[in-house]
Amino acid sequence: MDAARTAQRLVDTKGKVTIVYRRTINEMPADEGEIKAVIAEGVQIIELASPEAVVTRSGKVKALKCSLMKLEGYDGRGRPKPVKIDGSEFEIECDTIIPAIGQTLEIDFAPQELLKADTRSYKTLMGNVFIGGDALRGASTAINAVGDGRKAAEQILKRCGFPSNTPMVDEKRQDYCELMLMRARRQYGYENKITFQELSKTFKLITEVPDEKTIVEESKRCLHCDEACSICTTVCPNLANFAYQVKPTSFQLEKVQVEADGTTLIQPDISFEVRQSIQILNIANFCNECGNCSTFCPTDGAPYKDKPKFHLTTKSFRENDEGYMLSILKDRFVLIFKQKGSIKTLSEKPDEYIYETDHVYARFAKDTFKLIEVKALTPCVRQIQFQHAAEMSIILEGAKQAMGVI
Ligand code: SF4
Ligand code: SF4
Repeated sequence: MDAARTAQRLVDTKGKVTIVYRRTINEMPADEGEIKAVIAEGVQIIELASPEAVVTRSGKVKALKCSLMKLEGYDGRGRPKPVKIDGSEFEIECDTIIPAIGQTLEIDFAPQELLKADTRSYKTLMGNVFIGGDALRGASTAINAVGDGRKAAEQILKRCGFPSNTPMVDEKRQDYCELMLMRARRQYGYENKITFQELSKTFKLITEVPDEKTIVEESKRCLHCDEACSICTTVCPNLANFAYQVKPTSFQLEKVQVEADGTTLIQPDISFEVRQSIQILNIANFCNECGNCSTFCPTDGAPYKDKPKFHLTTKSFRENDEGYMLSILKDRFVLIFKQKGSIKTLSEKPDEYIYETDHVYARFAKDTFKLIEVKALTPCVRQIQFQHAAEMSIILEGAKQAMGVI
């Protein structure tokens, strides 16, 4: 159970297990079913107690010394904070202590810098070594680890020249309207039957295994939150978060090295990728920064601060220090970005983008973002990168949809 991350387990001579937990059972980062299962197994949970010292006699564990805690105020994550009650020490007799106060990955057989990979290739810098799960992402969910394992296997098969017959999730992109309709209906899931009474007596399987039909039906309830969340658009009382659709894109960007004599050298730069077809703009005219959308964001984001701020009117754009605005000209759309007094623009023509700042003028092929022309406008510039120009090409799509011009 996840509570094991922050608990101590004690086992006494008769095999009785006790878990000591600093907070209350309700605050355990464990599912209700896990807590019930532990209790059904006969495990005693001592809440609001903190381990202080291991008591030993003749080199053997005799007890764990603990103190009682009370909850006072809140920690940085908004959870009630346990504080020690002075003079409340007590001992729990035991002969085995299993500390379970954290989990970290230990890879000591390879240098960390060679284990870098991305979530598309899963391939590390060590030739034929692939990684996934926590080793790739840091602490994450079991389902991410399972998915990584499958996708890494696909990559390995591809590399070895073997065909793969597993349909990839990415190939099954959902229709946005269908997803939103699914989201509007509550569909109860399959109820996993657990026979808790068996727990303390045998090692028999206590959960029923659903049949194939049930599993397929269950998978259809997936709301594909990784593709389209949009919760911030539904919880904003002012409708200030706007969802727009783009085509998932991947560009190999280029950067420009400017020599002292003004000559320019174009080199490959980072790749730019947009995997989600649904993106969000924050509409500055409507947002009063109440923070409600942050409360509901499942990824702990602050959409009203993190998302591009888009101004629907020139007045709003002028009155604010930062943000985007769309200018609709006869022969082109121009996205204007203002920040700290400087202006950057991206103009869209039928086959190309033109990116202009105080320091650079550049033209890109629209379908590949390859540079067609570039000029450094100030002598101090030595290197020019275009990640923001690529981002602006995505925001431009949102701006056009927000303004209703496509
Ligand atoms: S902070 Fe802005 S976008 Fe977020 S809920 Fe409040 S008004 Fe809406
Ligand atoms: S900002 Fe948060 S709530 Fe909005 S779409 Fe992204 S994850 Fe969902």
